[in-house]
Amino acid sequence: MDTDSAARKPCRRCLLSEIDRDGTYKAVREYIAALDDAVKCTRDEYAARLSVCRACDHLADGMCALCGCFVEVRAVKANQICPDIPRRW
Ligand code: SF4
Repeated sequence: MDTDSAARKPCRRCLLSEIDRDGTYKAVREYIAALDDAVKCTRDEYAARLSVCRACDHLADGMCALCGCFVEVRAVKANQICPDIPRRW
């Protein structure tokens, strides 16, 4: 994440429709790329998790409706779990 993005605070008054989706996706990709490999799950595990999310009714606009996370961020971290009960991954 560049210093400009890191310094920017999240807007608490914006609706999703007012957010720059391309910019948000780029920031998510940059955040994931900047994570230490030690905290990431394997590529196969990441793909498997995202495959489950893709088929899940709780997925909306790239976010999990149960936890509010961008699933691509939540799923890449090895120590994270799906918030659903029972766990989907
Ligand atoms: S994290 Fe779990 S509940 Fe959320 S979208 Fe993915 S599979 Fe569904």
